[in-house]
Amino acid sequence: MPKILIVEDEEAVRLMAGFALGRAGFQVDEAEDSVSADKALSTSQPDLLLVDWMLPGISGIDWIKRLKREETTKKLPVIMLTARAQESDKIYGLDSGADDYVTKPFSPRELVSRINAVLRRCQTDKKEEYTSGDLILNPEAHSVTAGSKELDMGPTEFRLLKFFMSHPNRVYSREQLLDFVWGRSHFVEERTVDVHVLRLRKSLSPHGYDGLIQTVRGVGYRFSDKTG
Ligand code: CA
Repeated sequence: MPKILIVEDEEAVRLMAGFALGRAGFQVDEAEDSVSADKALSTSQPDLLLVDWMLPGISGIDWIKRLKREETTKKLPVIMLTARAQESDKIYGLDSGADDYVTKPFSPRELVSRINAVLRRCQTDKKEEYTSGDLILNPEAHSVTAGSKELDMGPTEFRLLKFFMSHPNRVYSREQLLDFVWGRSHFVEERTVDVHVLRLRKSLSPHGYDGLIQTVRGVGYRFSDKTG
């Protein structure tokens, strides 16, 4: 059961939301301000935060902005609660990192369906990992690991490796790689591809994976995930 942390100082709203979510099958945790919410977060991580815009002390918006800067909480889905209905406020709320917005007064049914929609969206946003042997590329975490070691590579090498790992065992010309990885809007020489392939191999070689990127003479490059 997904766990929702409700952060709202108005007791009536908090209880109503808590009751509605509990009845819809969610686990519910409650906090009345950012201080007690921080305390709740340090004990267990919820699947979604329902946060009132206007909280005593640090406002809901400022609290969310802070969470979005912190490594452990930046990916937590957030729905803001607010009494304000102005469009500019909505945009401000979404800019601060909120995933959606529910205006008070709201119906329990509306609240539940918004929460379900955000949870669904976050689920599909979680891109799958690409693996080859114990080489793992995680697009969401923007990381490449081999066993327990994290590989160090530049952003272009990362995009290149991601493209290769998501299109294994096929040969791509330098021109195709430029289109797919750099995009057509960029003017770069085909030689650039060779430079970045070289750098990518350098990042992979301490872990024995440089051989996965094969040069196909006269054609281009291929990622071969036939391990072993
Ligand atoms: Ca409030």
